[in-house]
Amino acid sequence: MQPSLATLTTLVQEISGAENAMSAMQIIVARLSLLMDVPVCSLYLKSPSRAKLILAATQGLSTSSVGKIKLRLDEGLVGVIASTKHPLNLADAPTHDNFVFFPKAHETPYRQFMGVPLIYFRQLIGVIVVQGTETEPFSQEAEAFLTTIASQLAATLYNIQRSGEWIPSRKPGKLYKRFNGVVSSSGVGIGELIHINTHIDLQKEPEKTGGQVTEELTIFEAAMEKVIKDLEQGSNRIKKDLPEDIASLFSVYRMMLESPELRQGTTKHIQQGNSAMWSVRQTSLALADVFEMAEDPYMKARGEDVRHIAIKLMTQMAKRERSVSPDKNKAIILAGELISIADLSEYNSDQIQGVICTSGSALSHTSIVANALGLPAVMGVSDLDIKRYAHQLTVIDGNRGEVIISPPAEMIREYRQLEKNEQEFNKALAKYKDLPAVTLDGFHVTLHTNTGLLADVSPGLRNGAEGIGLYRSEIPFMVHDSFPTEEEQYHVYKEVIDAYSPRPVSMRTLDIGGDKQLPYFEFKEENPYLGWRGIRFTLDNTALQVTQIRAMLRAAHGRENLQILIPMVSRIEEIKAIKELIKQSLAELNKEGKQVTKPKLGIMIEVPSAMLLLDKIAPYIDFVSIGSNDLTQYLLAVDRNNPKVSRLFNNLHPAVLVALQMIRSKCSELNLSVSLCGEMAADPASVLLLIAMGFDRLSLSAHKIPKIKWLIRQVNRADLLKILVKANAAEDEAEIHKILQKKLKELGL
Ligand code: PEP
Ligand code: MG
Repeated sequence: MQPSLATLTTLVQEISGAENAMSAMQIIVARLSLLMDVPVCSLYLKSPSRAKLILAATQGLSTSSVGKIKLRLDEGLVGVIASTKHPLNLADAPTHDNFVFFPKAHETPYRQFMGVPLIYFRQLIGVIVVQGTETEPFSQEAEAFLTTIASQLAATLYNIQRSGEWIPSRKPGKLYKRFNGVVSSSGVGIGELIHINTHIDLQKEPEKTGGQVTEELTIFEAAMEKVIKDLEQGSNRIKKDLPEDIASLFSVYRMMLESPELRQGTTKHIQQGNSAMWSVRQTSLALADVFEMAEDPYMKARGEDVRHIAIKLMTQMAKRERSVSPDKNKAIILAGELISIADLSEYNSDQIQGVICTSGSALSHTSIVANALGLPAVMGVSDLDIKRYAHQLTVIDGNRGEVIISPPAEMIREYRQLEKNEQEFNKALAKYKDLPAVTLDGFHVTLHTNTGLLADVSPGLRNGAEGIGLYRSEIPFMVHDSFPTEEEQYHVYKEVIDAYSPRPVSMRTLDIGGDKQLPYFEFKEENPYLGWRGIRFTLDNTALQVTQIRAMLRAAHGRENLQILIPMVSRIEEIKAIKELIKQSLAELNKEGKQVTKPKLGIMIEVPSAMLLLDKIAPYIDFVSIGSNDLTQYLLAVDRNNPKVSRLFNNLHPAVLVALQMIRSKCSELNLSVSLCGEMAADPASVLLLIAMGFDRLSLSAHKIPKIKWLIRQVNRADLLKILVKANAAEDEAEIHKILQKKLKELGL
């Protein structure tokens, strides 16, 4: 017996297809008993009160004992495993001091015993036990296998254990499912779950049977036409901004797309009665295999191109498939693997109550747009099988990063109340719009807004933003099918600069890489956060950077409010290089007869090296803006979008607080204007500390401005200084949180 990794994968797939928690657990014990060739396999889970271990499923013991055998956490052999969090492997179980006999389980004949704990993120959730007929302990291989399988199944069993669905005494009406993800945009939403299926995974086989042959052929031809057109438009726009080798990719794509092998192969499959989706995938994978078998590395690489083409075609078809849209008046929650901004724009914004992504990140642009629109969003809900729960009533809790499917009536009532309270509070805040953000003892804070969408410009002004502290220029890039031209960028930027003039507008140069990818310029890196991001990418693609600078400078013609902000700076040379490009663009534009003026230049402090080099950087710049999202990520070495470690991402970590105070005092010493534009600026607890630290410029999502303004107007900075002293003395973020929560509670938040 040595089950392979493949058997393990099959088991995981089988479980994910199970109808409900009980059958998932039954599959686990039945398969394990078969794979390990043992007569008994049992699964114990911790009760919701966490005081008992309950037999939740068994293969080999009496099924009537399921739910009836209950052990204290230190009782019996199972209790030994639970309390030591260590496997137990015995030749003769009854001779162990802790052995307990359960006659109702009919377990007498089996003396060989092995159990391993089920642990999920340090928490014990249960124990898996196998029993055999041999007279020696289980082999080392068997122990290793059971341990591996227990760790693989821990996440699934954690969800089952938390759902309580497996407890026989629970009434069926109370069954609901709760899934966790990464907090991405706050608020609560209730609505029907709508599956947005535009992310194509070539590993997954789509539905094989299609509609009428003519219908499927039309779907295929329409997708072909659209992809060819997009590629053509893209390549025309992009050619002058890209190195030749990258631009030539478009012609390779075009050739592949129009190749007789792809077209004829797909058509043949469709004519045999298969769906267009299935046929494209089948043909492309076969073609990709042929390329990938070639010796020549160039030919080999074409396999990847064919896969990309297949994804593009299938994405088009998927869009068409979901054109059956829900009732326009119905509240909906959009869920998908990675929902794009374009997906959001296809629905009536009043209908959308929230956004859920099974991958995706808190800093992704979908999340930024959700924040801008004031929509609750939860990302990285990796355990949620959206297809299975499509059209069910769902609650999205953006404050806790939770998704609840089919919640019971009383839970819905509570959430509706919460929603109502939030709405009322927000309404009450409207009166603060034109009042200054000043503390009771006279500390004035300038509140700017973060934006990046044209649609997002007016909410900033409506909510009393005194300027734009961060214009994320990558958003217009993301809503295009290819790099926008200088002219296109010029029009977008001009609208923003004009709308805010004379208020300052800090336009950040393109910050892609990391979790921000352009759909038409994807590149894979082992470690994207430490890779080709922000200024590194744009300096290397100089033409692209020059085009953007020219568009910004032209857009500010006749205005004095443009400030250029550079993302991801980690070395002085980058600032010198961008200054040179600005100088060159100014000279060229003036030569072309376009009147442009030199803008102020600032850098984002996101990489710790920029913070430590402030003395040397200061002579080259006019201001700095702290990107606390990335600064926290790089200081703590925590990817906040990785659900395994995202709980360690915390802006209130003592090291982050030290860094912020260091930057603040360095900027005062250097007489350098400093603002903060990360998510901290919108978090009431963090704002208490930021004010105490002396930050008098914050930039945040428009719809969060009223609440932060209200907060600032309720506090005395002198009190906050005392709180800062306590926070600085604290050992960890939990302690700091406690201190701040106490104050927020006093303030009625
Ligand atoms: C940040 O890093 O804090 C920031 C504001 O930039 P972005 O979220 O766009 O990466
Ligand atoms: Mg950043």
